[in-house]
Amino acid sequence: MNYDYIMIRYGEIGTKGKNKKDFINCLYNNIKNAFKQYKQLTFSNKYDRLYIELNGCDYRELYPTLEMISGISSFSPVYFVEKDIEVLKETFKKIIREIDFKSFKVDARRADKNFPLESMKINTEIAGVILKNKKVNVDVHNPEIKFSIEVRNEGIYIYHEKHLGIGGYPLGVGGKALVLLSGGIDSPVACFEMMKRGVTIECIHFASFPYTSKASEEKVLDLVHKLNVLQTNIKLHIIPFTKLQEAIYEHVDESYAITIMRRMMYRISELVAKRNNCLALVTGESIGQVASQTLNSMQVINEVTNMVVLRPLACFDKLEIIDIAKKIDTYDISIKPFEDCCTIFTPKNPVTKPRLETVINFENKFNYQELIDEIMGKIETITINNKEKENEYL
Ligand code: ATP
Ligand code: MG
Repeated sequence: MNYDYIMIRYGEIGTKGKNKKDFINCLYNNIKNAFKQYKQLTFSNKYDRLYIELNGCDYRELYPTLEMISGISSFSPVYFVEKDIEVLKETFKKIIREIDFKSFKVDARRADKNFPLESMKINTEIAGVILKNKKVNVDVHNPEIKFSIEVRNEGIYIYHEKHLGIGGYPLGVGGKALVLLSGGIDSPVACFEMMKRGVTIECIHFASFPYTSKASEEKVLDLVHKLNVLQTNIKLHIIPFTKLQEAIYEHVDESYAITIMRRMMYRISELVAKRNNCLALVTGESIGQVASQTLNSMQVINEVTNMVVLRPLACFDKLEIIDIAKKIDTYDISIKPFEDCCTIFTPKNPVTKPRLETVINFENKFNYQELIDEIMGKIETITINNKEKENEYL
C-alpha cells in the first residue's frame, strides 16, 4: 500500500503568537521550494500541519531534504482514508499485512467531534481488527509499533512512523547575517546553527594568494555548496587579504599579529555586511579553543565594531561541533589539508591576553585604512546554488 501524504509538524513555531502565520507561510514556501524539481508533489496547509501529497512519489526520497529544513520538528508518512469506520478497518487489514511486528498499540484522536465513534471506541475496534488478522499482542506500555489515527474534518490520517526534523525556525524569518567562513570545521557549523534559527546567511572568506592556493578556495566553495541544502542561494564574498597581511607582519610584533589580523577581518566584514544589508557578523569561534579565542582576545578584537557579533559555537565542545559537521556533511571537506590565511602566518607565541593600548600602537604604525579601502574595491562575489553544482558535474 502506498502512502498518500507526508504529514509535517512544526512544534516550536506553532507557539510564536502573532508571528505564527508568517512563520508557517515561510515554512510552507521553503518546503515547496526544496522540492520544486518533483513535479508530481502537491502541498497543503491545514490545522497546524503541512502536508505533501505524494501522488505516487517514493516518500523515502524526500527524507534527507526534510531532515534539513529548519522549522520542521517531525514528519510522518501517512495513509489517508474517508471518515468511515468500515473503510478504516479494511485499510488496517492491508497495512498490517505489509509490516512485521509482535506487539502494538492503537492511539486514536478525534479532532472532528462529529465523527460518531469516540477515540476509545476507535481504539478498541481497530485493535480488534488487528488481533483477528495477525498473530500479535496489544502492549500499551511498550509496544513495538504504535498506530496513530487522527480523525479530522477532511478525513482520517493513519501513521506508525515518526522522523525527527532539525527544529528551529524557517529560514528567512530571522533577517540576514554575514558569516566569516574559513575552510575549517567550525565555521560551516556556525552557518548551520544560524540557518536553523531562521537567519539567512551570506559568507565572507579571506584569501591570501599566492600563500593560499586555488584548492583552498575550491574547498570553501565546496563547503558553501553543502550548505545549499539548507539555503539555495548563498553569496560568498572573497577578500584579497594578502597585502594587508604582509603589512601587518612588517609592522607588528609577531605575538600580536593574529590579534591585529582578526581586527582587520572584523573591520572589513563590517563594511561588507553593511553594504549587503546583513544585520550581524557570525564566527565559528569557541571560547578558549585557541589563543585568539580567549575572552580577553575576543574583547580586544571585537572592540573595532559595534555590530552584533554572534558566536553560535561559543560554548560547544569540539566533539559536539564535529558531530554536527558530520551530520551536515561538511566534515570530510573541512578536514582536507589546506592553507588558511591564519595558519600561514601563525606566530609561535600568540598573546592570549592582548593589551588594547599595545594593539593601537602597532596599528598606528601603518596606514591600514588605505589598504582596507583598496580591498573594498577588489572583492569578488559569487552566488552559489545547487543548480550550478549539478551543471559542473555534467
Ligand atoms: P574553523 O574551523 O572555522 O576554521 P578554527 O577553530 O580553525 O575555526 P580560527 O582559525 O581561529 O578557528 O578562526 C576562528 C573563526 O574566525 C572561524 O570560525 C571563522 O569564523 C573566522 N575565520 C578564520 N579564518 C578565516 C578566513 N580565512 N576567512 C573567513 N573567516 C575566517
Ligand atoms: Mg580556521
